[in-house]
Amino acid sequence: MALGKMRIKFLGADRQVTGSCHYLETNGLRLIVDCGLFQEREYLSRNWEPFVFDPAGLDFVLLTHAHLDHSGLLPKLVREGFQGRILATAVTKALLPVVLQDSAHLQEEDAAFKKKRHAREGRRGPYPEVPLYTVEDALAVPSFVQDVPYRSRLDLNDRLSLTFHDAGHILGSAMAELRFKGATAEERLIFSGDVGQWDKPIVRNPSVFDRADYIVLESTYGDSRHHDPKHLEDILCDVIGQTVQEGGNVVVPTFALERAQEMLFHLSRLTAAQRLPHVTTFLDSPMAAQVTEIFERYLDFMDLQTQALFRSGHHPFRFPGLHLVQTVEESKTINSIKGSCIILAGSGMCTGGRIKHHLARNISRPESVIVFVGYQARGTLGRQIIEGQPTVRIHGQYYPVRAKVVQIQGLSAHADQQDLLRWLRYLRAEPRAIFLTHGDQDKAEALAGLVAKELGWRTRIPSYLEEVELNGTT
Ligand code: ZN
Repeated sequence: MALGKMRIKFLGADRQVTGSCHYLETNGLRLIVDCGLFQEREYLSRNWEPFVFDPAGLDFVLLTHAHLDHSGLLPKLVREGFQGRILATAVTKALLPVVLQDSAHLQEEDAAFKKKRHAREGRRGPYPEVPLYTVEDALAVPSFVQDVPYRSRLDLNDRLSLTFHDAGHILGSAMAELRFKGATAEERLIFSGDVGQWDKPIVRNPSVFDRADYIVLESTYGDSRHHDPKHLEDILCDVIGQTVQEGGNVVVPTFALERAQEMLFHLSRLTAAQRLPHVTTFLDSPMAAQVTEIFERYLDFMDLQTQALFRSGHHPFRFPGLHLVQTVEESKTINSIKGSCIILAGSGMCTGGRIKHHLARNISRPESVIVFVGYQARGTLGRQIIEGQPTVRIHGQYYPVRAKVVQIQGLSAHADQQDLLRWLRYLRAEPRAIFLTHGDQDKAEALAGLVAKELGWRTRIPSYLEEVELNGTT
C-alpha cells in the first residue's frame, strides 16, 4: 500500500452497538481500534468466526476503554497469535484483567451449562459447547498492555502518532486521535470511542476537538434525549419509596463497571440527605466491588467534584446500609430476607451472572420493581423485559413478567443526540468524512439527519466489513 494512504475496515458495531472493532492499515503499520465482543443475539456467531485480519500481523491495538463490547475479544486475539502492543490508559489497563477474567468465567460457565442442557435435551445448540475463551486466555492479555497518558503524543512510527483524550464515558475511557502523514499533509483521524455526557458525576467532561479530517463517531443514542439528570435522584427516591411501601424488592441490573459506582454515588447522596427509607442495599457483584477499589486508586482521573468529596471525607461510593456480597451462598440468601431491599447485580443486560437469580425470584412479584439503568441491546433478556414481553425465559424456565419495570435513561454513560451534536459543533470546519458507528441503524440515521439539518454536514453509516480508503478525497 502506498505511503500516505490510510485504509479503514469496519469490523464491528456497524449499524448495531456491540463488537466494536476497526482495522487500519497505513504507512507500514497494521492496527485495530478496539477488539469488542458481540453481545447482541443475532451477531453472537461473529465472535466464533476467524478474525478477518491476521492477529499475528498486527502491530497495535488501540483500546478506547475497558467495556466488553470494546475489549471482549482480546483474549481470543492473543490466543490466536497477536504479538504487538495493546495501548490503553492506566485505568483501562487496571480494569482490563477484572473485566476479561469475569467475561472468561461467564464464557466457561455458559459453555458448561449449554453442554449439560443439550445433553439433557438430546440436541446441539448453535454454538460450540466449548468456551469462546478461557480464564487462562484472559490472563495472557495484560502482559501486552502498555499504558499511555491522556494528551501525550506517542509515535507509533515516523508517519503515524496516537494521542488519547478523555472521553468522559467511564473512568479511563479515551478518544483516539491519530495523526498520519497523508499524501500531501498531516491528517487527523479521530475515533470518538464511546462519548460521555457533560456534567456527570465521577468522570470528566468529554474532550472536544477543533479540527479533524476524518471522524468515526458513536451513535448509540443518536435518536433520543436523556432524562434531565437533575431528576434522576427524584425518580430513584419515588421508585424505592413506593416499592418499600408495597413490600417488594428493587432489583437493578447493573454493569459492574461505572454504572454500579454511579448508582452507589447517587444512593450515597440520597442516604446522606435522608431521602431513602431504611433498607439494606446489596451490591451483589464481587466484580463491582473490585472495580470500585480500582476507581479509588485513580482519583486523578475523576472530575473535580468527586475528588473534592473524597478529600472532604465523604466517601461517594459507600454509605450506611450498603452490604457487599461476596459468595454465591450469601447471594442466594438475599431473597429469603424478610422485608424490602435494594439489589444491585450484574450483568447489566441480564445476559448472565447473579442478576438472573434475582430476576427469577422477583420478576413475577407485582410488588417488586426491576429498574433498568443502562442500555439494553437487542436480543438480550433486559431488552425483552423493557419491551414488555409478557413472559421471559430465565435459566431455561419461563416466568410471567408481573413486576413493575422502570427504565431510567439519564444514568447512561453515553452522550445523547444533543451531546453528540454539541461535540461536533466544536469543529471549525466540516471533516472530509464522518462515519457513524456504534448505533442501531435507525439511531445512526436519526443522528445523520440531525447533523445534516443543524450543521449541513454529510455523514456516512458504514456497513459490516465495508472498507474505505481515506485519501484526501473521500
Ligand atoms: Zn462503553
